[in-house]
Amino acid sequence: MHEIARLRVLNSYVDAVTFQSSLDAAVALAKDRATTSYVVAINPEKIMIAQREPFIANFIERADLLLPDGIGVVVAAKWLCGKRLERTPGADLAEALIRVSGEQGLDVFLFGASEPVNSATAREMRNRYPNARIVGRRNGYLSANEYDALVEQINSSGANVLLVALGSPKQEEWIATYGERLNVGLCMGVGGAFDTYAGAVKRAPRVWQNARLEWLYRLLCQPRRLWRQRRIFLFAARVLLAKISRAFSRPAKPE
Ligand code: UDP
Repeated sequence: MHEIARLRVLNSYVDAVTFQSSLDAAVALAKDRATTSYVVAINPEKIMIAQREPFIANFIERADLLLPDGIGVVVAAKWLCGKRLERTPGADLAEALIRVSGEQGLDVFLFGASEPVNSATAREMRNRYPNARIVGRRNGYLSANEYDALVEQINSSGANVLLVALGSPKQEEWIATYGERLNVGLCMGVGGAFDTYAGAVKRAPRVWQNARLEWLYRLLCQPRRLWRQRRIFLFAARVLLAKISRAFSRPAKPE
């Protein structure tokens, strides 16, 4: 695997990947079951949570792959690090892993979301990708005393890839707690991705995505998220301040 540059954005990090290089890296990590690696999709919300929750900051720092999941992170990397990144949504990478699972010989386990959404996700992915190797699934509404049996189920399924759709920070806490006991090569938190695969939540139409306004579409469709997503605006303000303070602290050019 090529060395991937890691950029610092505010007090957090993101990797300088393209969609294809992140898929290549994720496939390589998934094949190596000697260690359980994990991917985190980095967006403004997560960076702001990391500012005040050391657990999340630490989880991000230790991750094997940090995706530029949100457009806010792509813009911040350009402004603050001078690097042009390609937006790589976690939901798209997770779907791509399922798409290539047949040809790459990777077994995938789907954990999380409600039972109807979880089962519809497995069905929909098998429809879209008939060669997909989905070897197990479990909904995300288990009690804590069922987690030991779940770890057994995942390990005995022989999965290389575990997708965890519990939302943040629950999925990060679950991966941090149980990751060491898993025999999978790659673990990835995918938030509400199963809801979009199953069609329970609509993703923004292409025009919104191309206009880099997927976040706004999501806010308009699910206004109850506004309070949670206030962090997007805080993030934008912090990036702007960092940019301005750098412009002023730049040493004057010699005459
Ligand atoms: N979820 C779950 N178990 C829980 C809480 C949530 O499986 O105990 C699922 C929920 O059904 C949904 C996902 O986690 O599918 C959270 O989606 P959301 O869009 O809120 O996550 P985000 O991407 O914002 O972190």
